[in-house]
Amino acid sequence: MGNENCRVAVVTGASRGIGSAIAQRLAADGCHVVLVARDEAKLAAVVESITSAGGKAESRVCDLSDSGAVEALIEKTVEDHGRVDILVNNAGINRDGLILRMSDEDFHAVLAVNLTAAFVACRTVARPMMRGRWGRIINISSVTGLVGNPGQANYAAAKAGVIGMTKTLAKELGSKGITANVVAPGFIETDMTEAMNEEVLVEAAKRLPLRRLGRAEEIAHAVAYLASEDAGYVTGQVLTVDGGMVC
Ligand code: NAP
Repeated sequence: MGNENCRVAVVTGASRGIGSAIAQRLAADGCHVVLVARDEAKLAAVVESITSAGGKAESRVCDLSDSGAVEALIEKTVEDHGRVDILVNNAGINRDGLILRMSDEDFHAVLAVNLTAAFVACRTVARPMMRGRWGRIINISSVTGLVGNPGQANYAAAKAGVIGMTKTLAKELGSKGITANVVAPGFIETDMTEAMNEEVLVEAAKRLPLRRLGRAEEIAHAVAYLASEDAGYVTGQVLTVDGGMVC
């Protein structure tokens, strides 16, 4: 294994929030992590926190709404490291609006980052993973992809699409030693929820069985498990990490 004894992991949307927590956790677990996002300075800060803790990491600036750039990013990572063992498609955006007012542009923009980029990354990484006969694909969806949410037709479509795509990959790639799973977060404290109305969030948290919002690290724990050797017989699953919202 290149770098010789550690797994190479690509984490998209790693400049902040859940992606940053996933990158830090996988690095702490011994992976060489390639962090992807658009904000170079924020990526550099996360890389610095990983390397100063003794981990291995590097950053790649990429706008994931550009399919060609996503393909080039994965190809370059494989060229540099010889392989990608773990792919975490975490980057996501929302552009909320009720269906009557949702523009084509807002629909397609959300699909591009949340679903098409994940598809292109999975397609590009599949062959090198098959060559290595080992791989972990972990796609970050949302409870919205399971149950829908008013004002989020675009986001729900993308997140449900991620689930269907991942189950298909599990079936196509399992015989090559590659697992594909989904983590579906509920309300997690990040910039994404920061943008929501605070009262709505507080009320939502009160209705949850666990009575609180989740932390980015709690999503990272789930990803770390699915990325591990221990999860070698788990594929095609949706692990919901949501304080009991959907149960
Ligand atoms: P966040 O804090 O808004 O971070 C989003 C990440 O995606 C950032 O690193 C951002 O980096 C990156 N990103 C966005 N557009 C990009 C683009 N075009 N190209 C490259 N990178 C891009 O979001 P989060 O809350 O951590 O969410 C992470 C994932 O969890 C998302 O898929 C989200 O849908 C899902 N999720 C979150 C929650 C929640 O409650 N927070 C709940 C369910 C699901 P740059 O801005 O630097 O590009």
